[in-house]
This record gives sequence, C-alpha cells and structure tokens, in this order.
Amino acid sequence: MKISKNIAILLSCLTTVFNVNAQTAGSTENQEQILNLYSSRHYQTDEKLYSDFTKFTGIKINRLDTDDNALLERLKSEGKNSQADVILMTDASRLWKAEANDLFLPVKSKILDSKIPENLRGKDSGEGVKWYGFSTRARVIVYNKNLVKAGEVDTYDKLAEPQNKGKVCTRSASHPYMMSLLSSIIEQKGEEGAAVWAKGMADNLAKPPKGGDIDQIRSVASGECGVALTNSYYYARLMLSPKQEDKDVVAKTTLIWPNQSTNGTHVNVAGGGIAKYSPHKANAVKFLEYLASDSAQKYFAEGNNEWPVVKGVAVDNAALKSLGTFKQQAVNIAAIGMNQVKAQKILDKVGYK
Ligand code: FE
Repeated sequence: MKISKNIAILLSCLTTVFNVNAQTAGSTENQEQILNLYSSRHYQTDEKLYSDFTKFTGIKINRLDTDDNALLERLKSEGKNSQADVILMTDASRLWKAEANDLFLPVKSKILDSKIPENLRGKDSGEGVKWYGFSTRARVIVYNKNLVKAGEVDTYDKLAEPQNKGKVCTRSASHPYMMSLLSSIIEQKGEEGAAVWAKGMADNLAKPPKGGDIDQIRSVASGECGVALTNSYYYARLMLSPKQEDKDVVAKTTLIWPNQSTNGTHVNVAGGGIAKYSPHKANAVKFLEYLASDSAQKYFAEGNNEWPVVKGVAVDNAALKSLGTFKQQAVNIAAIGMNQVKAQKILDKVGYK
C-alpha cells in the first residue's frame, strides 16, 4: 500500500516536471536563441511572420521548407537525432498522420488553449495538445453556370447524385483534402452513408482524377467539367492573380459555399506543433504562442488567403472580402484526423481513386 502511494507521488512529480519543461524551459535552461522550423509553407508574407518573431524575441529561425510528405519522411528518418523544434503542416489529415507517427511533443499552454478554439486543435490526451490549427480554409464547390444550375450543385450530397453524372471533377480521392472531406462526412453520416456518397462521387466523375485543385477549377472554366471541389484559397489566389488567363477562369466560374441550408461548409486547418525531440522546447512554445498573436495570425492566414483562427482578428484580403461569410460545419478537426483510416477503407471499397 505504502509502495504504491510512493509511486503515485513520484509519478505526479514527474508529470509536474514535464509540464513545467514544456511551458517554461527557457527560464531554467541556458538555451540557444535558435528555433529550427520544419515547414511545408511557402508563402511570401511568411518572411515578415518569421522576421517579426526574431525581432520580438531575439530567437533566430532556421528553416527547412519542403512538402508535407517529404517533411514526414525526414522527421521519421531523423528520429531522436532530429533538430526540428516546430513542425508546420496543412490539413488535419496530415497533422493527424504526423501525430500517429508520434512526431509531436504534447504542449500545455494557457495562451494557446485560450486563443485557439477547441474544435480546431488535436485531442488533448491529458498530457497536452499535440497540434493546433492556426488558420482555416474551406472545401468549396466551383461550377460553370452554362453547364449546371446553382441549385443542382450547392451541397456535397448533390455532387454525388445521379443528376450530376459525368459532370464532377476532383483531385485524387486519396489526397489529404479529399480524405478530410470524406472523414467529415463519416463524422456526420457514419461509414455506410459516407460510402454511398463516395460511390456516387466516383460514378459522377467527368474524367479520372488528375492534378491539383487549381487544375479542377480550370477544367470547370473550360467546360470539361460542370462542377469541381477546391480549397477556398486556390480560388482566392486566382481572383487576386494579375494574369489575364486567371481572370478569364474566374469570370467563367462561380464559387458556392456548400451546405449552407443544412450543416455548413467543411473547414480544415493549417497548423503545427512542437517536434518530439525538440532541442529548444521553450523557444518552440514561444513560437507557437507567437503564432496565436494578432499580428502573426494576420500574416499566417493571409499568406495563403486563409482565415485566422483567433477571435477578433480580421483579414484584409480583397478576394476573401468579396466572397463574404458563410456557415461552417461544426465538426471537430481532431475527429476528422482520426477518421482517415476509415476513409481510406471506404475509398478502396468503392473504387474512388
Ligand atoms: Fe493546398
């Protein structure tokens, strides 16, 4: 009895030490003023995002910029020797994958917990949260008004109905953006309902999935497809483009916020967390907390025509302003991440590639 009580006390001390480390290690360690950032972001406004952090804290940022898959592989192969302090990625499915590969260190931060909405972060295991969303993007519908009517394509469900046979274009169904949308549908309809939707989508395709979201929008403009799915920032990027060919694409297409009279549009996040073997944990916490500050939120979101997650921070973006506001799906982003395995099973079953 006495032994188990002592073990309990020891365990609670260890937990306390760990939490203090995650929150305030900088005050006790003589830490180098360095932050190694592994990021899949590549936006021009990010330069100011990073230089402001260095200006405010004196912490120099070393960046490794690469795509999400390469980032994941690199972190896995570096293992305990990794010098990564913070990992930034896009889409809950990728953040979840990094979490499932045990690449994050849980963080307990009152600042992050108070500023980042609870539905836009990874699940708190009790040890802390492994990743937070820092901006949001929506999965929207873009259509060609010469080929389909708005009322025929204003929900995700309708895209999978027989009336749209041969009219729908999407990128590969196994891409994280499509997987997350399917995961949100699993969350709402269950696996069977989601499988019916995925089968309907596969049956309605105008052509085999190829290319990214912008390619789908271009195919809608050219009339090859009547309707397509895309992340909102790709459409905003075309809206803001000075190129005539992009202006033409925008003129020939219309964006719809899906599911406005039902459960709302699917929203996902770009976000990040602390790397499991971070050599500069206190700096990493400081950086994540900085990303939740008003000025950083603006840079972070606007760098890719997205929306800030912190309440009260407004973006100054002409494209987003003209697209207006919309009703968002009330789904928890951590649950979307966790449905990825089920989503892949459904895609395999119905043959949607
Ligand atoms: Fe993207």
